[in-house]
Amino acid sequence: MDEEEDMGISFDLICPECGVGNPRGATNCLVCDKNLEDTIAFMEDDFFDLEITKDCLVEYRKTFWGTDRTGKINKYFLDKIKDIEFGSPVNRFIFIYEDKRVVIPLRDENMEVIRNFFKKVE
Ligand SMILES: [Zn+2]
Repeated sequence: MDEEEDMGISFDLICPECGVGNPRGATNCLVCDKNLEDTIAFMEDDFFDLEITKDCLVEYRKTFWGTDRTGKINKYFLDKIKDIEFGSPVNRFIFIYEDKRVVIPLRDENMEVIRNFFKKVE
């Protein structure tokens, strides 16, 4: 895959919706036409991919092996996310959404992204 690098194009902007790599700076996904400019952050974790947009947190569930998506998507509107807690020493992002407690286990690096993002919002 080094050929792409040589041409000066890197397909490292992963589309949160379909998982295809797009060229940096692309405004819409080449494959599914999702508006990529809506995405504030995108994280790959063990059991899901997480996307933060300007108004939602979106969880794309993956199979137990973490290789494929199950097609199940949980969407949380940011303005309905309440009572945020950050669990430790095991990284967990915990919040109340529509009166339900949601617990999302995260890798270290993703925990950092989430923590920084939600600090700003509050
Ligand atoms: Zn796409």
